[in-house]
Amino acid sequence: MKTTIYQLKDMQRKTTAEHLKQVIDQGGLIVFPTETVYGIGANAFDPAAAEKIYRVKGRPKDNPLIVHIDHLHQLKRLTKTISDEAKRLIQAFWPGPLTLVFQKTNEVPKTITGNLDTVAVRFPANAIAQHVIGVVKTPLCAPSANISGKPSSTLFEHVKKDLEGKVDIIIDGGKSTIGLESTVLDLTTSPPTILRPGSVTKAMIEAVLEKPIDDASEVYQIAPRSPGMKYTHYKPQGDIVLLEGPTQKIIDVMNQAALEEGDRCAFICAHEVSEKLIGQNVFDLGSINDPETIASNLFIALRTMDDLNITTIYMHTFSKTHIGSAIMNRLLKAAGYKVVKVA
Ligand code: AMP
Ligand code: MG
Repeated sequence: MKTTIYQLKDMQRKTTAEHLKQVIDQGGLIVFPTETVYGIGANAFDPAAAEKIYRVKGRPKDNPLIVHIDHLHQLKRLTKTISDEAKRLIQAFWPGPLTLVFQKTNEVPKTITGNLDTVAVRFPANAIAQHVIGVVKTPLCAPSANISGKPSSTLFEHVKKDLEGKVDIIIDGGKSTIGLESTVLDLTTSPPTILRPGSVTKAMIEAVLEKPIDDASEVYQIAPRSPGMKYTHYKPQGDIVLLEGPTQKIIDVMNQAALEEGDRCAFICAHEVSEKLIGQNVFDLGSINDPETIASNLFIALRTMDDLNITTIYMHTFSKTHIGSAIMNRLLKAAGYKVVKVA
């Protein structure tokens, strides 16, 4: 398949808008940027189009897709009831990186909900994402634009590598500003439950609802609440060794590994650690005091590992406060939940 690539400057053209609409009307796929990660979108009400997403990504059929909207009135077609709690969260966080899980209407195909009776919905803040949903005139179901199991794409170059030739259109929107997927909050439970942490944190949600909420994302569950919880994620080809302990000890262990393993190993670390490393493949994620920057660089660094054929990737744990909880959630998954304590 020939993939058309559009740049930012193409987005205002009438012919681009017509092409976007034509592709979605005909059951095709469009990769578009959002503020969290890139998404691969199809008409949310077209099961055959949604199935293409699963095929292209190699995504397990029971892992549901998030529906992206650009107007609140679209919610009516997706869910029957919008509780007062939902309204308060929508008011506070939409458009933005919070996905809300509702009871679905009959119109929402079960193909996109992994056979569940619920539907996950998000109103992205990214202007290109809003423009695309606006011109195609239908909500788009869109998971992250990566091959299943790999880190989500936060750069156009990474999307292109994974998906060129497999989708109809890819829109180059530069680097995703947040860089981690949205927070997923299940509103069908009482109290609501976080299924995936993101940059909208538990504390931020609790402040709006003025009550404590549950967090099911902390521990791996035998019967996962959200299908996505049970699959391997964010896994480069190499193994990740996730170190926890005093900073100097972590630096010592990493420098020893650099001496022993040479250029087969890499180090993905906060600036305060990386500036003291002697290894060849050192990736500086940003200062420990700037977790938003660390979040935005994490998937880029993880994806670079495969390009360099790295066999062992040394990383360190982060504080779980605020967005740190989302960073650690992705890191623990990438490392297969193994943490190596150094002291
Ligand atoms: P992705 O689009 O690749 O970022 O993944 C979407 C995430 O949202 C996955 O972890 C899904 O399991 C989760 N999700 C989507 N729809 C639902 C739903 N109806 N109920 C629970 N989790 C959902
Ligand atoms: Mg994903």
